[in-house]
Amino acid sequence: MQFRNFKMVGYVVYGRGSFNQLDEIITPHRIDGSPMIFLVDHFFEGKPLVNRIPVRGNDKVIFVDVTYEPKTTYVDSLAQQLKDEFGTVSGVIGIGGGSSLDLAKAVSLMMNNTGSSADYQGWDLVKKPGVYKVGIPTLSGTGAEVSRTTVLTGPTKKLGMNSDFTPFDQIVLDPELTADAPTNQRFYTGMDCYIHCIESLEGTYLNEFSKSYGDKALQLCRDVFVNREGWDADCDDKLMMASYAGGMSIAYSQVGVAHAVSYGLSYLLGTKHGIGNCIVMNHLEEYYPAGVKEFKYMVEKNKIDIPTGICKGLSDDDFNKMIDVSIGMKPLWENALGKDWEKIMTREKLRGLYERL
Ligand code: NAD
Ligand code: ZN
Repeated sequence: MQFRNFKMVGYVVYGRGSFNQLDEIITPHRIDGSPMIFLVDHFFEGKPLVNRIPVRGNDKVIFVDVTYEPKTTYVDSLAQQLKDEFGTVSGVIGIGGGSSLDLAKAVSLMMNNTGSSADYQGWDLVKKPGVYKVGIPTLSGTGAEVSRTTVLTGPTKKLGMNSDFTPFDQIVLDPELTADAPTNQRFYTGMDCYIHCIESLEGTYLNEFSKSYGDKALQLCRDVFVNREGWDADCDDKLMMASYAGGMSIAYSQVGVAHAVSYGLSYLLGTKHGIGNCIVMNHLEEYYPAGVKEFKYMVEKNKIDIPTGICKGLSDDDFNKMIDVSIGMKPLWENALGKDWEKIMTREKLRGLYERL
């Protein structure tokens, strides 16, 4: 038995207003003359948060376009732009949802690795550590702040740069930053966390480490989406910790059916991670009966729309592409259904599931 020996985030600060400590935190990491680069979710362009970013000397703020989930081509062009302008940089600081955090991780790595980020999509392919990197989430749920991956869509696949060099050196968890998230977006990203918990806790890879974090994250998700009315600052505090704990839970287990199926949707149709997981979860009674029942309750209680009929009119070829991507996620299926998963989740069965979405 080989136990996973995983690299974690270096430093963590948590608390309302902890963003104000950013200047102090990054100062020791400034290398003479090279700038800190702030990759900021384009949602914040023109918003008050921008004036609070500790820009010094030749530091640069780049508003990143997260209309689509991060592509390897976008990562490569951002890294190239920085190399052309500065040669090297002191660090990269991502401020935003999971997409901006993933961009920051990937750009940091590509400052010190040659070629294209597409060359490193996979497990442990990254050769050198990146530059100093900081993650500051403004949405809670993905767990991207703690994970050892950065999910990218490349020319041939949607797969992370999964490596020991990928986790952030520092994360700043300031729940105030999530306060303005729209209800639907907050729910979709929050459900990413809920689904991480269900997939981890119901999976065959579960051990006490991932269970401890998963149980806690699940309870926090219920606190905010099941057991109360409305939304307040306390909910932002709780969901931010749920995201962290949910991420820690899957660090030692794995996600499952909802993610495996949702990756196919994302690859073919560009469906975003949070909403894609919700669309799939809505139809997974067979695999996660209690989780799906509770999920549907939360959807209704929080008055959220989950799209249906998104695979209507797709061709056989389209279905086959999604099935290929999904079936390729072997560890997810093995976690969900056990060693004999291939006998359970046949291509026909998966096609039936996609047709219902
Ligand atoms: P996102 O980062 O894609 O952002 C969704 C939308 O919310 C965007 O329009 C963004 O501009 C906006 N937004 C962000 N913060 C906001 C705020 N405070 N107020 C209002 N709007 C705000 O959403 P997400 O769900 O956080 O992240 C999804 C991405 O994370 C996907 O690209 C997915 O692949 C990735 N992901 C990565 C990991 C990992 O471990 N690395 C895990 C899960 C998901
Ligand atoms: Zn997820």
